[in-house]
Amino acid sequence: MKKFRQICVLLLCLLLTGCTSQTSSQIKETEQDITAVISDTQEPENSIPDEPAVTDLFAMDTYMNLKAWCDPSAIQEGVSLITQLENTLSVTNPESDASHINASGGMPVQISDTTAELLRTAVRIGEESGGALDITIYPVLKEWGFTTQEYQIPDDEKLNSLLSCVDYQQIQLEGNSVTLPENYQLDFGSLAKGYTSDRLMKLFQDYGAQSAIVNLGGNVQTLGRKPDGSLWTVAVINPFSPSDNLCILQIENKAVITSGNYERYFTENGRNYWHIIDPADGYPADNGLVSVTIIGESGLLCDALSTALFVEGTEKAVAHWKHSQDFDMILVTDDGKILISETIADSFKNISAFPVEVISRDET
Ligand code: ADP
Ligand code: MG
Repeated sequence: MKKFRQICVLLLCLLLTGCTSQTSSQIKETEQDITAVISDTQEPENSIPDEPAVTDLFAMDTYMNLKAWCDPSAIQEGVSLITQLENTLSVTNPESDASHINASGGMPVQISDTTAELLRTAVRIGEESGGALDITIYPVLKEWGFTTQEYQIPDDEKLNSLLSCVDYQQIQLEGNSVTLPENYQLDFGSLAKGYTSDRLMKLFQDYGAQSAIVNLGGNVQTLGRKPDGSLWTVAVINPFSPSDNLCILQIENKAVITSGNYERYFTENGRNYWHIIDPADGYPADNGLVSVTIIGESGLLCDALSTALFVEGTEKAVAHWKHSQDFDMILVTDDGKILISETIADSFKNISAFPVEVISRDET
């Protein structure tokens, strides 16, 4: 606003000086004076460092990399933020909000704004996905051994009894108070990293960064464009051969978040069992998809949706995208097809041998 006013003053002065038919040198002087005023009061230019501040760390059970073109103390603060969020959200910290909720025995628990926001999003995407995303699946996840790596295939009786206490609709949230029925437990594994990358982007922005990229165990989020003005290039893993890439995306200001059956699994009797559970039967979700990548502005939403669409399976995932405005998607089917939303087609490059089908909204 200040700058706008000064420019108006400049224009006004030029007009006035023109009207009083001053000599060209006088006009020049006036211009110079006002230009001097403008440069004196201008905000200092935001100088972009040539090299980014970077760090690698292990947190939230995964390897992370942070990179931001700004004051390096932003990175230190980013690491503290990750620790603070992990302490609030992790079920393995007995003092976290998640642990307090899980130990509450049906009594109301006071939670942080962060936890309340995650709960609201989890319930909303739970509804949107017909219960495919259900953060109260945690007791079933434990039974399979995904929390301890002491893997086992539970028997159906056990699964059914645990599933009777799985229902996100039982989460009662009023402001910062949450109540979960006795014997229910939840975890934020499906959306905590997406929320964390959102917060990191905000933090780096507060430090004046115009370019930043974080990779939280394969979940990527970017701020702006690269410092040279070009788009970020983000690769999506080939779920059939995770050491290779499947495709490349060119993005700015977006999160790219993948849920895949190759990320955490164990093998028994020649079959793989992975860490994304279908609340419909308590088994690893096996509804036609081996990986789901969601691209959008909110890391939190992308993370919640990647898990939700993975569980929904091919048909429901496509229908979900068609009814929503918020995100782009790349689905990989178990028979080796890549389905992409038309909204991402221009930014997408297939580098695999798999065929690509573009899904458009108006298809029936
Ligand atoms: P990752 O954390 O490996 O990137 P996801 O975002 O898909 O992958 O989250 C998987 C995690 O979500 C699991 O480790 C578990 O904690 C939790 N989870 C598994 N199945 C479900 C489900 N149906 N709904 C909500 N959370 C789930
Ligand atoms: Mg997720």
